[in-house]
Amino acid sequence: MMHATGTAKRLALGLGALVLLLAIASAAAIIGSARIHRGIAETMRREEGVRLSLELASAVRDQYAHQAHTIIIGDGSHLGFYAESRDTVLRLTRALRQAADRPEERSLVDRIEAESGRLDRIFRDSIVPAVLRGERQSVQEEHGRAQLVVTHIQDLTQELVSRFEAQIAQARAGADQAERRTLAVLVAILVAAPLVAAAVSLAIGRSIAVPVAQLQAGAARIAEGDLDTRIEVRGAPELVSLARRWNEMTAAVRDHQEQLVRSEKLAGIGRLAAGVAHEINNPLGVILGYAKLLRKKADGALAEDLAVVEEEALRAKHIVDGLLDLSRPLPPPSEQVDLRALAEDVVARLREARLLEGVSAEVEGEASAPGHAEKLRQVLVNLVRNAGEASGPGGRVAVRLRERDGVAELTVRDSGPGIPAAARGKMFEPFFTTKPRGTGLGLAVSRAIARAHGGELAVAAAAEGGACFALTLPTAPAAARRRAAGGAKP
Ligand code: ADP
Repeated sequence: MMHATGTAKRLALGLGALVLLLAIASAAAIIGSARIHRGIAETMRREEGVRLSLELASAVRDQYAHQAHTIIIGDGSHLGFYAESRDTVLRLTRALRQAADRPEERSLVDRIEAESGRLDRIFRDSIVPAVLRGERQSVQEEHGRAQLVVTHIQDLTQELVSRFEAQIAQARAGADQAERRTLAVLVAILVAAPLVAAAVSLAIGRSIAVPVAQLQAGAARIAEGDLDTRIEVRGAPELVSLARRWNEMTAAVRDHQEQLVRSEKLAGIGRLAAGVAHEINNPLGVILGYAKLLRKKADGALAEDLAVVEEEALRAKHIVDGLLDLSRPLPPPSEQVDLRALAEDVVARLREARLLEGVSAEVEGEASAPGHAEKLRQVLVNLVRNAGEASGPGGRVAVRLRERDGVAELTVRDSGPGIPAAARGKMFEPFFTTKPRGTGLGLAVSRAIARAHGGELAVAAAAEGGACFALTLPTAPAAARRRAAGGAKP
C-alpha cells in the first residue's frame, strides 16, 4: 500500500486550496449572474405592466371622448367608433391581467374592469337612449356620472402604474445589490488567489527547495573529501530522513576508511617488523650466548654488568620472538589441548618464576579444544601474567573454563583497577603498553594466536571492578567445522 508522503500531502493541500478558491469564485459568479438576470426579467415584466396601464388610461379617455362626441352630435352615428374604443379597453384590460401577478395588482385590474363596465353601461343604457330621445337634462346628469367613473378609472390606472414602478425600483435595487456583492466576492477571491498561490509556493519551496539546496551543499562538501561533515536539513520529512541516511552513510564511509588506513598501517609495520626481527634474531642469539659465557667467567662488578647485558638481550629476544609470532602463520591444529591442565600448569610456572607473588590464583571448570599447546600456553601466560600484574599483592586472579555450543571459553578475571581509559580500543595493537618496561606485544600476539586457531580474544564484561579477558576456541577442528557447515571441499 502506498502512503502519501509529507510533500505529496502538502502539494495536494496547496493545490486543493487554490481549486477551492476557484470553485467559490465560479459559484459566486454563477449565482450573481442568475440574480442579476432575474432582476432584469422582473424589471422588463413590470415595465410592460406600466406601458399597458398607460395605454389603458389613454384608451379609457378615448372611450369617454367618443361618448362626448355622441352627446355633441346628438345621434347614433358615432357609436361604431365608440364600440372600437370599448374593444381596445377590454383587450388592454385582459393583457394587463396577464402582467399583474400579485393579488393587490390583480384586484386593481378587477376594479378597473368593473368601473370600465360601469362606464359602458351608463353610456349604452342611459346616455344613448336619452340622446336619441333628446332629453338634454337627463343626458347632462348621466354624462356627469360617466365623468366621475372615468376619473376613478384614471386614478386606479395611476395607482397600478405607481405599484409597477415601485416594483421596478425594487428589482433594480436587488439586481444592483447582487452585482455589487458578486463583484466584491470576485475581487476578494482574485486578490486572495495570488496570495494563496504565493503562500503555497513559498511553503513548498521552503520544505523542498531549501532542503534540496542543503543536501546539495552537503554532497559537495563530501565530494571534496570532508567526511566529518554533517548535513542538517529541516523541511519535508522524506528529505530530513534522506539527510539522516546520508550522514549515517558518510560516518560509515569515514569509519571504514579509518579502519582501512589503520590496518594498512599495521600490515606495513608488521611486514617491516617481521623483516627486522628475522635479521636481528641471529646476532641477538650470538650476543646472548657470549654474554652468558662471559658472565660465568667474570666476577664482581663485571659479572653484574654482564648480567644486565644478558637480561636486556633476553628482553630484546622476547620482542623479536613476539614479532615473529605475529607474522608467522600457524599450521592446522594437530592435538586436542586440555585447557584446564594447561591453565593449572601456567599458574604453577608463573608462581615458580615469582610472577604471582601475593596473588591468589584459582582455576575452575573444564574445557578442551584442538590447537597448538605451546602457542595456547603463550596466550595463557600473557593473560595470567597481565592479570597478576594488574591485581598486585593481595589480589585475586580467576581462570574459568567452560564449553558450550561448540565453543571452548576461557576467561581470566582479576581484582585489579580494570582497563585504563587510555588503553581502551588500543590494547590489542602491537607495541601499545602502559607499563614502564612493557613490550606491548602480549595481547597482540595472543589475539593473533587465538585467530590462527579460528577463535577470538576479547575484553569481556567484568562483574565487579578488575578486568576480564575471554579466549574462545572452536571445539571441533576447522576441517570438521567446514564439513558440518556443508560448504567446503574435504
Ligand atoms: P604489556 O603487558 O607489555 O603492556 P600487553 O599487550 O600484554 O602488553 O598489554 C597491553 C596493555 O593492556 C597493558 O599495558 C595494559 O595497559 C593493558 N592491560 C592488559 N591486561 C590488563 C589487565 N589485566 N588489567 C588492566 N590492564 C591490562
